[in-house]
Amino acid sequence: MGTHSVEAMVLGIAQDGGIPQLGCDCPHCRAAWRDGSLRRLVVSLGIVDHEAKTTWMVDASPDICEQMNLLVSSFPGYRLAGLLLTHAHVGHYLGLALLGRESRDTRNLPVLCTRRMAAFLRTNQPWKQLVDLGNIELSIVESDRPVGLGSTATATPVLVPHRDEHSDTVAWSIAGPTKTLVYCPDVDRWEGRILEAIEDADIALLDGTFYSTDELPGRDISDIPHPCISDSIKTFEGWGTEIRFIHLNHTNPLLSDEGLVGQLMERGFKIAKRCDVWKL
Ligand SMILES: [Zn+2]
Ligand SMILES: [Zn+2]
Ligand SMILES: [Zn+2]
Repeated sequence: MGTHSVEAMVLGIAQDGGIPQLGCDCPHCRAAWRDGSLRRLVVSLGIVDHEAKTTWMVDASPDICEQMNLLVSSFPGYRLAGLLLTHAHVGHYLGLALLGRESRDTRNLPVLCTRRMAAFLRTNQPWKQLVDLGNIELSIVESDRPVGLGSTATATPVLVPHRDEHSDTVAWSIAGPTKTLVYCPDVDRWEGRILEAIEDADIALLDGTFYSTDELPGRDISDIPHPCISDSIKTFEGWGTEIRFIHLNHTNPLLSDEGLVGQLMERGFKIAKRCDVWKL
């Protein structure tokens, strides 16, 4: 494997509710209910360390069963070394529940998260039980401080502005021997340290929840809590970083509009797909 001993693999690209979404009969969800190949798993990223023969998952989504299986079947014999969490919204940590005694029953699985996220998990059931029974072992990270993921990869949490009722929110910057990838599924605005992290990265997987405000008729632009893709491409056009959008809402026209996808690609941007892989 040489210098390409670390890879990152996309495990899902949908917003927290997935696609199709519970009880939804919109055109995208209706199509995905009929045709399973149109289903999109909730956003998550796998990190593979070929030297240590370990994998890590960033976020623990409600689709964790399929996503962990995707990692296990793609890299047989590799051990899941731990999880990295971004924040306490359901699409990003609900999967932790399946690590408990009713399901996988892991032993002291390292879970890297911020102090506020750790406090939330330690004090609220059913997450508290995972900590008390030793299914997971919380490891507190500080913003902008890199942590080692084993032999070669490092991961650096970067605080981002987001709706922070239960925890704060971080993006993760994952560095291998040759490249760096930023994973930022949820952000309210492109401001602060995350901009430097994206600029310094080779690849950035960024919040692409909505394409434009047209998806939310009747809502005031100022209370839409995500930058729209149509604005983000203006922000990042011409940057040297390879940018792919993740965390797509079921309303996002880029899920089905090939013409719009083409326009995006002409400007140098893409939607990420499950199983996209980068050598870091
Ligand atoms: Zn989310
Ligand atoms: Zn829908
Ligand atoms: Zn969120």
